[in-house]
Amino acid sequence: MSDYSALLARITDPDGREIHDPATGELIGRAPVHTEADLDAAVAAATKAQPGWNALGHERRIELLGAIADRLDAEAEPLAELLSREQGKPLNGPNARFELGACAAWLRATAATALETEVVVDDGQTKAELIYKPVGVVAAIGPWNWPLMIGVWQIAPALRMGNTVVVKPSEYTPLSVLAMVSIMNEVLPAGVLTAVSGDRAVGARLASHPDIDKIMFTGSTATGREIIKSSAGNLARLTLELGGNDAGIVLPGTDPAAIAGDLFWGAFINTGQTCAALKRLYVHDSQYEEVIAALTAVVDATPMGNGLSEENVLGPVQNKRQFDIVAGLVEDARAHGGRIVTGGAPATELGELFYPITLVADVKDGDRIVDEEQFGPVLPIIRYSSVDDAIASANGLEAGLGASVWSSDPAEARRVALQLEAGTVWINKHGVVHPMMPFGGVKGSGYGLEFGVEGLKSVAVPQIINS
Ligand code: NAD
Repeated sequence: MSDYSALLARITDPDGREIHDPATGELIGRAPVHTEADLDAAVAAATKAQPGWNALGHERRIELLGAIADRLDAEAEPLAELLSREQGKPLNGPNARFELGACAAWLRATAATALETEVVVDDGQTKAELIYKPVGVVAAIGPWNWPLMIGVWQIAPALRMGNTVVVKPSEYTPLSVLAMVSIMNEVLPAGVLTAVSGDRAVGARLASHPDIDKIMFTGSTATGREIIKSSAGNLARLTLELGGNDAGIVLPGTDPAAIAGDLFWGAFINTGQTCAALKRLYVHDSQYEEVIAALTAVVDATPMGNGLSEENVLGPVQNKRQFDIVAGLVEDARAHGGRIVTGGAPATELGELFYPITLVADVKDGDRIVDEEQFGPVLPIIRYSSVDDAIASANGLEAGLGASVWSSDPAEARRVALQLEAGTVWINKHGVVHPMMPFGGVKGSGYGLEFGVEGLKSVAVPQIINS
């Protein structure tokens, strides 16, 4: 096992771009700035390595994915420290160590999942088998919020199916992904997995590269649209996990104290910087103030601060651009009559990029804080009086990643859940994912599924053998 400094030394480039800790502003390392030539070399290496990697067969790849999971477990603490310093998320709580645990869990679950050949016709005259083959070279383009976990979500199924991978981490969190890839490469043959560190232009070049066969993209809807355009050139298949603006509906008669803790973490996991976090909460008129009071009690009891201190479970906003979006949406809500229940101004005493958990009441559909993805420590709480209206509000935006229904009546919760336009609807929880439950968005949140058998199909091409 290496320590944090040894891990960082493996990947930092003395001439690279400075990466700062969002909690303290401290310089933590320098990320290599790869060029177009580096990108071409990575794609060429992936193209060359792919047939051999495929020829190893499923059993050997399963072993190697298991070996990677073991290595990540062994390096979990230094990786979590690097992730915490670079991304800002605390070590403790559902944050950096949790993310490392999820990486190993997804690797093992993906290794253990099989995509079997299907016999689709067998009528005595024709036997048709549906076989799944690798697509070829997969580009994995990721965001800055859960850089390691989302990286594994893209890498593990692609490798499992016999593809080779070129990873492009977010320019905000390259070091942790480069460190993880360097550990994975202790186990993998050369060329099978390469990370290319660079800015948006490098991402755009990767997405339009003629030798890329599939793009696994997680990021904003705007970038997703750009990637669709670039795929017109190389015909790359796409999985697009895009932005969300998940609604939660608290049905009348729900016990506020019983749901407050899960509501809080549904909204504020990773300090709200989570694609499928609860971003709009609709509460029935009869319980509006009670739910707000119960949530406020959880906010008051949940510490925010430097992520390396064990007591903290909430951290800074990862970057200034996102911080300005969050602060701007709160100011807009205030200017339009929103009631700031708690928070509402930067927590400068903690550091430049800290914004406190902010509950905003008395806002409505059409307000920017409701209609736009905040992607930070802010939750608008909207009052409703008819459940049908709340369903219409929840479905009223372009986003369709997740949604949740909160109720003590399971049949009513299910009735409402079935009417919501989202890839996942949770009941009495929000944002909980599992390696065997297909995950993906509808509408503006993208298309394609990750995880489980459906996730393997998304990094494979089908072939019919008709005899
Ligand atoms: P972003 O779209 O700005 O960047 C994501 C990645 O795309 C980065 O690596 C970036 O360099 C790259 N990129 C930028 N322009 C590109 C182009 N033209 N072609 C190819 N790549 C390009 O997103 P972000 O700000 O890093 O992430 C936040 C967003 O991601 C939020 O909207 C959030 O909801 C979404 N997200 C979605 C999921 C999901 O599973 N649906 C998960 C996490 C985050």
